Amino acid sequence: MIILKDEILANYTSYRVGGKAKYFIKVINNDDVGVAINFAERLSMNYVLLGAGSNVLFMDEGFNGVVIYTGLLNRWMIEKDDYILVGAGVKLSELVEFSVERGVSGFEELAGIPGSVGGAVNMNAGAFNTEIKDVLTECVAYDMPRKKIINLSNADCKFGYRIAEGLKNRIVLFAKFKKMYGDKKYLKSKVDEILKKRDSKQPLEYPSCGSVFKRPKGDYAGRLIEECGLKGYRIGGAMVSEKHANFIVNLGNAKAKDILDLIEFVQNEVYKKFNILLEPEVKIIKN
Ligand SMILES: Cc1cc2nc3c(=O)[nH]c(=O)nc-3n(C[C@H](O)[C@H](O)[C@H](O)COP(=O)(O)OP(=O)(O)OC[C@H]3O[C@@H](n4cnc5c(N)ncnc54)[C@H](O)[C@@H]3O)c2cc1C
Repeated sequence: MIILKDEILANYTSYRVGGKAKYFIKVINNDDVGVAINFAERLSMNYVLLGAGSNVLFMDEGFNGVVIYTGLLNRWMIEKDDYILVGAGVKLSELVEFSVERGVSGFEELAGIPGSVGGAVNMNAGAFNTEIKDVLTECVAYDMPRKKIINLSNADCKFGYRIAEGLKNRIVLFAKFKKMYGDKKYLKSKVDEILKKRDSKQPLEYPSCGSVFKRPKGDYAGRLIEECGLKGYRIGGAMVSEKHANFIVNLGNAKAKDILDLIEFVQNEVYKKFNILLEPEVKIIKN
């Protein structure tokens, strides 16, 4: 494992914002995870997990505790006859490529989601008609309160919309995925189609966290925000994307505070007009 002090969080987040972490621990294998937790507890410091950083917003003041970075954790994938075993630090894009190359179907609609496998399992990430819960059979996690490694079935993870209740206080170490066969050529073309769709609908030219808000029941956050006339609305270096109203982009010089203020502003405007309180999907991490 690697322990760093005063590491700049902006370098690890897709928003490219965030101050320094007091301690930043890069865990590499299962044993490191327990050691990192003990390290934080010995210093009586709070700790948070960070994967590929594509769904988090750290503040400009940084994090006055221990950030446990899982982007290097178990960076391996193993193919067996009827399943694929994948470490938490593997990028979801690597898993998509790995499966498509082998003619394994089920992952193609997840193409273009920029998270790690650990973060994606924890968030039950998904797009189009697929969520992680549809392809995962089991996962192995470190249970923080009990300080032990446990196995969880798909049902144990208690997956919901962008949430896995059963993984609260648990660190995903690796996960087991179904192996269903499909036509390799078709799967490749499907991935290309998905990536094109994303490119045409999402402002991928700017740093962002993807969709800022969860979908409210029976509606779309993007539609409500657009109806409030907020596309292009700016606070400092943060802007509601002109291309996709549920994206708040960093125009290049945004502070975390600009993004947070804009999130709250959008929430207020939507609430005033529709009486709907949008719930952030992005994890806002304060001290
Ligand atoms: C351009 C763009 C497009 C996106 N499109 C989509 C999309 O289509 N669908 C979608 O669902 N999301 C999308 N996202 C959001 C994001 O990519 C997903 O939520 C992703 O799964 C987050 O993974 P991560 O590794 O980046 O997690 P992080 O952002 O690092 O962390 C997210 C949460 O997971 C926790 N976590 C991280 N690693 C672990 C671990 N090993 N064990 C337990 N908890 C962990 C963190 O503590 C945090 O609470 C998009 C983001 C961007 C920037």
